[in-house]
Amino acid sequence: MITKVKGTQDFIDTSLLNFITTQSIKHLKEYNFNQIETPIIEHTELFKRSLGLHTDVVSKEMFLISSKDEDSICLRPEVTAPAVRAFIENNIQQLPWKVFIIGPMFRYERPQKGRFRQFHQIDIEIIGTSSIMQDALLIKMLDELFKNKFKLNNYTLLLNFLGCYQDREKFNEVLKKFLDSVSDKICSNCIERKTKNPLRIYDCKVPTCIEIYKNAPSTTDYLCTHCKQEWDLLQNTIESISVPFKHSKTLVRGLDYYDKTVFEFSSTDLGAQNAFCGGGRYDRLVKEIDSNKDQPAVGAAIGIERLMLLLENKKDLPIAKQSDLNLILPLSPKQHTLALSLANALHSSSYAADILTANDSFNWTIDVLFEEDSSVKSLMRKANKMGAKFCLILGDEEESNKEVTVKNMITGEEKKIHQTNLIEYLKLCNFLDRLPKPEKK
Ligand SMILES: [Zn+2]
Ligand SMILES: [Zn+2]
Repeated sequence: MITKVKGTQDFIDTSLLNFITTQSIKHLKEYNFNQIETPIIEHTELFKRSLGLHTDVVSKEMFLISSKDEDSICLRPEVTAPAVRAFIENNIQQLPWKVFIIGPMFRYERPQKGRFRQFHQIDIEIIGTSSIMQDALLIKMLDELFKNKFKLNNYTLLLNFLGCYQDREKFNEVLKKFLDSVSDKICSNCIERKTKNPLRIYDCKVPTCIEIYKNAPSTTDYLCTHCKQEWDLLQNTIESISVPFKHSKTLVRGLDYYDKTVFEFSSTDLGAQNAFCGGGRYDRLVKEIDSNKDQPAVGAAIGIERLMLLLENKKDLPIAKQSDLNLILPLSPKQHTLALSLANALHSSSYAADILTANDSFNWTIDVLFEEDSSVKSLMRKANKMGAKFCLILGDEEESNKEVTVKNMITGEEKKIHQTNLIEYLKLCNFLDRLPKPEKK
């Protein structure tokens, strides 16, 4: 048997997945974001330029599909850089450009719990604004989505401020000095990070390193006057729109392009990989991808698989079930044509309908041998399993009287209806169903 590729998954029941995407689309549109699509494949160069050569994503986890030097192509590991590429290439003039992209991302990494080689994200970008107001609005929008649309309550917003490029450069020196002072106690990975990209030490999962970094300097203590004002403004604004947050000095996000605001929504319900949404400001990214353009920007990404883990056992979500199924049961091949035209009439009136015949893979012979009328009974059993609301039975008698027997699978009630009155009858039943039920004494 050929199995799925390691680190990928099949979605056999897509109701939760669809709930997440439809609710998010609706919510994002209320906040004036437009949905766009970019290709799944991009030039590898795009990510080398944007993510930084020393990030794990670029050095180890790229899913290359063609590695010819001059035209290396990969499956996208994230979609902020492609969004910026699309912004530049399509010469977008109306700013700020508020967009979102929903789709799969790919990382060629060792699969572990909560991490996939193909995973899905809702990516949100605001390009062409330096206003910290937009950072606050983005965070507020996400908090509303999680709290109200997804009814999550067990999560924390972590917030940090990295400062502008100059602040980051200055802070790197401060951090290097600190790391020099503890270099005999930190892990070999962190020693390497110290020279290549010191901020990355905060991603270290080694317990002794984590303990040591509790005393490391904080980016927010080394901000220039302007950044200091912005950091204060951001905290005050978020407080004033009543979104609770925690300042986390070790939150730096894994990618090179972030500056100023960085944030993460995390939940202890997710175990070690506990962030389900993260984002921040990337004021230099547009220029890094195209040196002729320069636009400040801020964005975020929601991990759909992580969100699904948080929502899968929630009972209070209005997840739409499949529309009520009307199942047509022709009792013999003689009624097949009639069944087809009845199905057609139902579909034309936007009713969900399907036909179940005796040949549709159930143990016909055994039932028939042991019980009179068992063909109907076993069709009914199957219909029940399929979740049919009404069974529309067509036998010889119904055919000659131009009738159909309508069986309500919930109440068990059965009624013979003239075929031409079927739609009206179903409409009435569905209407009565929606009426408030009298209380039982
Ligand atoms: Zn600054
Ligand atoms: Zn370490």
